[in-house]
Amino acid sequence: MKVVVVGGGAAGMSAASRVKALKSGWDVIVFEETSFVSHAPCGIPYVVEGLSDPSHLMYYPPEFFREKRGIDLHMNARVVEAGDGFIRVLENGQEKKYEWDKLIIATGALPKTPPFEGLDLKNVFTVRHPSQAEELRNAVIKARNVVIVGAGYVGVEMAEAAAEQGKKVTVIEYLDQPLPNLDKDVAETVRQEIEKRVDLRLQERVLAFEGNEMVRKVVTDKGEYPADVVIVATGVKANTAIAEQIGCRIGETGAIWTDSRMQTNIENVYAAGDCAETVHMITGKRVWIPLAPPGNKMGYVAGVNAAGGDIEFPGVLGTQLTKFFDFEIGATGLTEKAAINEGFEVKTATIKAKTRVHYYPGARDTTLKVVAEKETNRVLGAQVLGADVAMRVNVFASMIQAGFTTRDIFFADLGYAPPFTPIWDPIVVSARVLKF
Ligand code: FAD
Repeated sequence: MKVVVVGGGAAGMSAASRVKALKSGWDVIVFEETSFVSHAPCGIPYVVEGLSDPSHLMYYPPEFFREKRGIDLHMNARVVEAGDGFIRVLENGQEKKYEWDKLIIATGALPKTPPFEGLDLKNVFTVRHPSQAEELRNAVIKARNVVIVGAGYVGVEMAEAAAEQGKKVTVIEYLDQPLPNLDKDVAETVRQEIEKRVDLRLQERVLAFEGNEMVRKVVTDKGEYPADVVIVATGVKANTAIAEQIGCRIGETGAIWTDSRMQTNIENVYAAGDCAETVHMITGKRVWIPLAPPGNKMGYVAGVNAAGGDIEFPGVLGTQLTKFFDFEIGATGLTEKAAINEGFEVKTATIKAKTRVHYYPGARDTTLKVVAEKETNRVLGAQVLGADVAMRVNVFASMIQAGFTTRDIFFADLGYAPPFTPIWDPIVVSARVLKF
């Protein structure tokens, strides 16, 4: 049996590894168009910031997959065509044909860039793949003025990276808040944090990048900004080209439609990771929220099922973490705005608290906004800012996935000791304020 995997990122390598673990006698061939596999795009901002090296952005080296896992790994090999039972690959300057019995598509996402004039100037970057990290870092190091277009989480992380490198940083966002996945009131606190360090321009529309070969300035509907480097972080779209070629259905989100076993509408063709859509665990609706942990798990599920097993991917809550310098930001489930848009009648509680008891050194501020359904008290979402955010967001994510009500959260037997939390953890306090 021949299993072909297109894309050697998190999803592709998880899938390939799973097939091989379950069916060691099967041929598993992965095609990856760059020289990075099992890589970590999430680390790009920290390479640019100088905290890590581009070579560290691979979790395992290629030899590990070849020698330890028995995967036939082809790097610098771009799949240019896919059809029923075959693919064509451009590798070493030659086009070759390979056959498959099962195909797993894990082609990730691509930058979604408005048609700004001057996008092709030198030093205008998008951020998507670890293979770009070194060039981007070197350009930022040489720059004086860095302009970032887009204040989503990638834009915010790149702003930190460039500011930490001592650059003058301007972030231009056409919406009226940074981090559009947060409620406006929560994003307002984030805005204040960002403005302490960089020049954040909201409700401003980029028109063009200008320069002579090399970018020199960014022109918006409100002004002009000198720029030696421009980072365009205006979002991503699912990379569906290969899937479309073989007739995979594209879902309403624009990503590849899959069932809960990560199978596409075509038998023996699976899709996983950023190229695939899934369902939202609260609304049951089809969503596309491209993030690394679900991407890995989708790959795992696709791999098990391609190997003849039977497991389901349950969907996502959109749990997300980021930070701007030492200000941490996280969210899971539905925001108040999203919940209302989904037709829920909601109540919310916003808690400002310390992360530890008052007498233990190092307590920091944290703010939690928690959303619950009015009638049932089921908790629908949480947004957490400040410090120790990952722990609280992840606790909320587990509780929301388990269908907890405010009462369940209030009585959750969470641990306590002075160096870690207050006796009444802000999570528990939020449930008390929301009532049950
Ligand atoms: P990818 O990692 O994109 O891998 C797809 C692979 O397919 C690529 O290597 C590509 O070269 C290859 N490929 C595509 N087409 C072909 C073809 N035709 N032939 C051969 N190979 C092909 N997520 C989080 O959860 N937390 C974070 O903090 C976070 N931070 C991020 C920061 C940045 C700057 C970026 C860009 C992303 C971040 N993400 C984060 C998102 C996360 O990186 C993705 O969700 C994850 O990488 C998805 O894995 P994937 O395997 O689906 O896709």
